[in-house]
Amino acid sequence: MKFESYIRDIQDFPKEGILFKDITPLLNDPVARKECLSILLASLNGQVIDKVIGAESRGFFFGMLLAQELNAGFVPVRKPKKLPYTTISASYDLEYGTDTLEIHTDAIKKGDRVLIHDDVLATGGTAKALGELVKELGGEIVQFNFLMELSFLNGRDKIAENPIFAAITY
Ligand code: IMP
Repeated sequence: MKFESYIRDIQDFPKEGILFKDITPLLNDPVARKECLSILLASLNGQVIDKVIGAESRGFFFGMLLAQELNAGFVPVRKPKKLPYTTISASYDLEYGTDTLEIHTDAIKKGDRVLIHDDVLATGGTAKALGELVKELGGEIVQFNFLMELSFLNGRDKIAENPIFAAITY
């Protein structure tokens, strides 16, 4: 069993010309999910993690599983106006316009060792913004961690100064 086979391609979602990687079959299978989680964990070689950051919304699933296994805190990073307490924000460019992500100001303490997790590394805009939020709060980025990297989009160039791991590269 290979967990890769539980990620399916959806043509023209959410708009024409996009080939969307759908992880819902992976979430729906406990054996494949466990295999994927083991691979993500092994990439850390036993490094201590204080906080796992998960990006809304598909970064929440494995982000929380990772935090549980690592005995670390879990920190959701969300779209604007979703988090109730004081936040800081970071913006990034989209094909048309910009998008913004927010984090609670007390979610990371200075010197915390942080694992940043999301499902997909595409153009890298989201990952770069996540890194900025962590650094602004004084966190130390141990690794950027993804289920998948769409390498033809060169997203890793935007976060190149950090360790990066993806369980699958397309
Ligand atoms: P980026 O900012 O261009 O790197 O895009 C990464 C973000 O878009 C992540 O939060 C992903 O959840 C989402 N994303 C991009 N492509 C896909 C895909 O094919 N499947 C699922 N999510 C995707």
